[in-house]
Amino acid sequence: MESRRPFIAGNWKMYKTLSEAVKTAEEMAELLRDIKDRDIMIAPPFTALAAVGEALRNSPVSLGAQNLYWESEGAYTGEISAAMLVSAGCRYVIIGHSERRQYFGETDEDVRRKIRAAVRENLRPVLCVGETESERDAKNTFSVLDKQVKNGLKDFVSDELKHLVLAYEPVWAIGTGKTASTEQVQEVHSRLRSLLGTLFGESFAAGLRILYGGSVKPENIGELMQMPDVDGALVGGASLKAAGFSKIVSY
Ligand code: PEP
Repeated sequence: MESRRPFIAGNWKMYKTLSEAVKTAEEMAELLRDIKDRDIMIAPPFTALAAVGEALRNSPVSLGAQNLYWESEGAYTGEISAAMLVSAGCRYVIIGHSERRQYFGETDEDVRRKIRAAVRENLRPVLCVGETESERDAKNTFSVLDKQVKNGLKDFVSDELKHLVLAYEPVWAIGTGKTASTEQVQEVHSRLRSLLGTLFGESFAAGLRILYGGSVKPENIGELMQMPDVDGALVGGASLKAAGFSKIVSY
């Protein structure tokens, strides 16, 4: 079981050409080179993975991908397998981001298959879950999260998930500038941790890292990290610039 070292992850989404990505990665490698007490990951677009991996070599920043396809190989035009990500230098893969669920129709069943594929190749899955604004308004936050977690992790045993990272990302807070309050975040994280305890045992839940994502910036990371069940952050917009991301990492 992993210790709950703080984990700050950046998701570049569909931003940055190859040269832009390498430049930012080089700046991050330089700014973060002396950080030793936390795990850091950057997930650039597929086209920049190998080159960014090269730029991050010998730095404390690990490489992650934003998605994968669950088959090992085959006639699946446009898709990328877990083994391909590993061969490009990835250690982590983001799975079930709300933008994938919202715009590409990704289901909990797809998410489960993707986690299975990641685990098979020793890629560490960062599973994203989160409720929409209308689901929160209807007081369905916990039932939505329960379903996403239970279905996404169905049929796994705790040993297979020892490198799992969970990210709570309320959809209404992603890219909107609206951050959930620290109380809202803590309430959900603590519920998620007890759910994972019910599913996989108390010691699994105690060691699981739960990240918060949704308009995290240098100004709000400090108070979020003070919450007992917040173990890090998944950062979108504010991870695109090396200086801002480094400030978040060094909160
Ligand atoms: C995200 O995309 O996971 C995210 C949290 O984005 P932002 O930080 O821009 O809200």
